[in-house]
Amino acid sequence: MDTARKLKINCKPLDDLLGGGLEGGIITEFYGEAGSGKTNICIQATRECVLNGIGKVAYVDTESVSMERFIQICKGSYNKILSNTIFFKPSSFLEQEKIILGLPKVKNIGLVVVDTINMFYRIMMEDDEEGANRSLVRQLTSLQLLARKQNLYVIITSQVYTTENGDFRPFAGRGIEHMAKTIVKLERIGEGRRKAVIMKHRSQPEGREAVFYITKNGLE
Ligand code: ATP
Ligand code: MG
Repeated sequence: MDTARKLKINCKPLDDLLGGGLEGGIITEFYGEAGSGKTNICIQATRECVLNGIGKVAYVDTESVSMERFIQICKGSYNKILSNTIFFKPSSFLEQEKIILGLPKVKNIGLVVVDTINMFYRIMMEDDEEGANRSLVRQLTSLQLLARKQNLYVIITSQVYTTENGDFRPFAGRGIEHMAKTIVKLERIGEGRRKAVIMKHRSQPEGREAVFYITKNGLE
């Protein structure tokens, strides 16, 4: 396995922060408040995966990604990128599980996106906490195995809740903390301005930060 395999997001500060880009063979998690840039990162990584010929993208979308934003970020290559992206749109956490457990059968995937992993989790938690936690572990285990066996890239995003001291943390912490080998927190620090902080990484120091911008064209 080529452990040095990296997928550049093509946003220099973010790629530098990640030691050259997303790492293959593992799950990378981005978490942050609404509007912090999670979906922008997913779309831009999708674009880069297809345009660099890495493979198709399996895009598990729980929030109805904006096609208008897709077009803005993919521009002239929009058709090529869309025809190489397989969208899955679950409407419950168990349906999401079924989709994720079925991904190993999909051919020629280079990148798996789950945006977000924990929206339906949160809903299911309301009346079946144990079931939701078990399903989350099955989903994450399956994603991790898929990443490792096929050495592909996996991005998951997480919605957050605010803690008592005003910080925020991903809803559904524990399971994800172990399974995701890279964890990046996203913060809004101004209009279009965002800060990314390494919370966990296997080869980069924790707490390292990068500032990037969300513009009409994506992440810059
Ligand atoms: P959520 O949790 O609600 O899904 P998110 O973290 O996925 O949020 P994104 O959708 O990635 O957030 O980012 C939204 C941000 O992108 C908003 O601040 C918005 O202003 C910015 N944005 C979207 N389109 C443009 C554009 N054309 N030009 C500049 N900024 C844009
Ligand atoms: Mg989003």
